[in-house]
Amino acid sequence: MGSGCASAQGTCRRCGAPFGMEPWWVTEYPNGEHTRCRDWTGRPFPFARQLDLMRKLWPGVEGPARTCLHHAGARLAELQRGWPAGGAAAVLTALETLRALRLALAQAGVDRKVVGKL
Ligand SMILES: [Zn+2]
Repeated sequence: MGSGCASAQGTCRRCGAPFGMEPWWVTEYPNGEHTRCRDWTGRPFPFARQLDLMRKLWPGVEGPARTCLHHAGARLAELQRGWPAGGAAAVLTALETLRALRLALAQAGVDRKVVGKL
């Protein structure tokens, strides 16, 4: 289970550097690894849950947010099809895609509790 969230505390078990403001993943609580340092080979695509939620949201979202949801869903599905090709770069792309999507959905008035699950 990864946090994918930036934090100012803790150090990376791979490179030993502080997490800083970089994305990182909990490996053995409270320790973790930077997204860029983590060996993604053999791990399941980390955003399958978010893709499922995006498919459920699709019928109820309209306007510019729907366009954003379409592009974000297509991007994540593409990354999932190619997984684990791309590794850390694919994960960072997915995180940025989801960040932009959360913003668009929040601006469109989608329930914050739902947006927070993405
Ligand atoms: Zn690291």
